[in-house]
Amino acid sequence: MKKLLLLIGITVLSFFGMTAKGEPLFGVLKPELESHNNVLTVKVLKDPVIGIYYTKDFLDLAMDGQETLRNLKWLKSLGFNMLVVNVRYFAKWGDCGKLFIEAAHKDGFLVIAGWGAGNFPEWKNFSAKNDDIFIIDQNGKAGTVPCFNNPKVQEFINIQNLCFFKEFKVDGVVIDEPTYPEWGKTERRENIYCYCSHCGEIFQKQHGFEIPVIDNLKTISRNDPKWKLMINFRKSTLTSYIQMVLQGARKGNRDLVTQVVLTPEYGLDAYSADLSSILDLKCLDSIQLDPYWVSYGRSPEWVNSFVTPFTTEAHKQGKSCSFWLQGYLEGGQIKTGIAPGAATKVIDFCLGGGCDGIILFCWKGFASNSMQYKDYTWEKYAEEFSLASAKYQNQLSPEARIHIWIDSRKYDFIGDAKITLPPEAVIKIQIEQPGYRSWQKEFSAEKSKQEEIFEEKYYETFTK
Ligand SMILES: [Zn+2]
Repeated sequence: MKKLLLLIGITVLSFFGMTAKGEPLFGVLKPELESHNNVLTVKVLKDPVIGIYYTKDFLDLAMDGQETLRNLKWLKSLGFNMLVVNVRYFAKWGDCGKLFIEAAHKDGFLVIAGWGAGNFPEWKNFSAKNDDIFIIDQNGKAGTVPCFNNPKVQEFINIQNLCFFKEFKVDGVVIDEPTYPEWGKTERRENIYCYCSHCGEIFQKQHGFEIPVIDNLKTISRNDPKWKLMINFRKSTLTSYIQMVLQGARKGNRDLVTQVVLTPEYGLDAYSADLSSILDLKCLDSIQLDPYWVSYGRSPEWVNSFVTPFTTEAHKQGKSCSFWLQGYLEGGQIKTGIAPGAATKVIDFCLGGGCDGIILFCWKGFASNSMQYKDYTWEKYAEEFSLASAKYQNQLSPEARIHIWIDSRKYDFIGDAKITLPPEAVIKIQIEQPGYRSWQKEFSAEKSKQEEIFEEKYYETFTK
């Protein structure tokens, strides 16, 4: 793996990457700095988003943190640059959550909070105390998921969001597979809308008449005006929900990269989500899709069928688009298993097809593969993932803007830079490009002639 070198004796004073406000996430900048005889050269490379859903606990950070730091280093060596972590982990593990964000940032990762109303530890208590927050089907029966139009649910979300994003300095948020009124397949469950009083009121206000009841979902025509009304109302409820969550999160931290992961069941014109109205949301920066081919009994080619439509739509609206890859197996999926080479195919379809990123679900997602591929362990899968995605990394970024401060004097460059550093100067470098995580380092050039690889030295300092 190619290393970033700064071949002078230096002391790193500070390092931080920042995410841009209200911008898509096309990837991360990865500058290469080199210095010979006090001449500093900067070359800017960029990587697509290479993420992983990190499910391993990081409670050891309260002690020596060795395991977590080793894990991060390993993921970094595989080329990952983004970690998605369920908000539950941060909230539940408090200070360890904060230490984790700090450690991940120091290793150059973006940290994204995986969001779901039920992911907040307080949800259990809240939902147990309030039995009037759940969706109601057309027969008056309460479901198991909360109604997004319920004011109590909205208040819960707004409070949780504000506190969480103020407290935990993550780079972004991703709403994980929101759907309404139930998780997927609701049409088959004959439950396509919520009939609670709040939904009824909103519908009445918008349309001037009562929310219709569809007697037989199986036989009603898709062109029936009643059907269309309900589907549109359902979709607009989901869009409003996404907007409420993301705007609320930004109240806690205005610099968040905001994302939503949709499931392929939504398709481009499905019943739950209206992609174009979601993409119209100003508060949304990026969409993701998770076509897990094994779970759906499909092939990598099936994943490919979503790549162009989704990325094209996202890019048209100035948003980015990433795809999740299946790196887990559960239940009956072990029978089919994940075949060696499938991940490479999917990565080529995605990153070769114009997607801005790939995200692996999830950390050590399977203990055993099918009998057919039983030697293909998760670690081998991760290696294949790394090798296949490496092809799309380290692209030159000629549009990047490089700002170098020597003591307090500022010099600007585009694409690359070459500058003489006076001895003992304090140097600050900032590199930015719209849609990319910006990069910043501050250090002082010392008189020492000893050449050092500062990345390693920095890591050692941090792990002490
Ligand atoms: Zn409702």
